[in-house]
Amino acid sequence: MRFAARDRVMVLAPHPDDETLGTGGLLQRVRAAGASARIIVATDGEDNPWPQRVLERRIRIRTADRVRWAARRRQETYAALTALGVPPSWAVFLGLPDQGLTAIVTTQPSAAIQQLVAALCDWRPTLLVMPSLHDLHPDHNSLGFLTLQALTAMALADRPVVLTYIVHPLDTPAFPEGVRLHLTVDEQARKRAAIEQHATQLVFHGRSYRRVASGVESFALMSSAFGGSAALPMVRATVRAGILDVRLSSWGPRAWSTSLLIVGWRSAAEHAALRVEIGPWRRTASVYDSASHIVGTARCVTADAECRITLPLPEWSASTRLFVKAVSRLVFFDRGGWCEAAGPSLRWVDGEASQPGCDAAANGGPSSGTAQNPARFQRSVSSSS
Ligand SMILES: [Zn+2]
Repeated sequence: MRFAARDRVMVLAPHPDDETLGTGGLLQRVRAAGASARIIVATDGEDNPWPQRVLERRIRIRTADRVRWAARRRQETYAALTALGVPPSWAVFLGLPDQGLTAIVTTQPSAAIQQLVAALCDWRPTLLVMPSLHDLHPDHNSLGFLTLQALTAMALADRPVVLTYIVHPLDTPAFPEGVRLHLTVDEQARKRAAIEQHATQLVFHGRSYRRVASGVESFALMSSAFGGSAALPMVRATVRAGILDVRLSSWGPRAWSTSLLIVGWRSAAEHAALRVEIGPWRRTASVYDSASHIVGTARCVTADAECRITLPLPEWSASTRLFVKAVSRLVFFDRGGWCEAAGPSLRWVDGEASQPGCDAAANGGPSSGTAQNPARFQRSVSSSS
């Protein structure tokens, strides 16, 4: 991967430390080429109680403690960037809620998407490096989701080239069709020094974080972020004749606490969410809407370590894109990140040209533009027969 002085890179980091773990080598290359970057850190990582309890020797974490922890983690990012040899002024913090990005996706995504569109229009990157929708950390894959929708809400001419990266799990193998950055010895040393600046995160993850500094940074092209992977629990989600069909692999006792989140998406202003709670040994599961009302029943069939869940979709879903993710009710990490359900092909009705450009956004605000021009889709007649 080579950069030129004219390149404008934007890195999206869900938490303080992801800029170092995911792109610490890439940022050094950007700086060395005389190019510049803006690093958007979505949250302050303030909801991080166990390291805080250990380091601050307190049991109860109050609001004021979280505010102090957030400030500490911001300082760690500034120090890490200095260790990487890049200006700390490259970092911008959005202040979105730590551990809260999935709830934003399923409830009130408009404001966060407007923030992302504004950040993109302000910096106008030539290259955007964002978290993968397949990262197993719920904040990471949901920031990927929100960014995808922010890009979709923008005019085609304003969209940058996009690479995605995975931090969780840390030992994710390189993307087969992706871009690899082989770090030099010096780059590895600086990345290691930067990781040491995130001292709050080394309390529990010191060994695994320090291992990240050696070797390769791996990025997927945007398009491959949507493909399935044998290593991921969610193997396939399809829609046919109003039925959503999701197949989860690696099914066993540990997976019984899985819930499916389903988001139907037309635009930041038009979206809806469903949740399916899958229980052990049950052949049916209730489908809930976002107000936790039961709105239907899903069928669950388990065979050969695969769980197949089928459910009739509500009418509103007929003209939306559908995204599914498998979350665990017991374990912090998701079982699989956001996956778009394949179905009769969806295409733009009026083309991307109708999306508000950054110049229009600068005058009228991206929010008003997005709301007035919701992405409109229709099903392709030929492929739905
Ligand atoms: Zn993170």
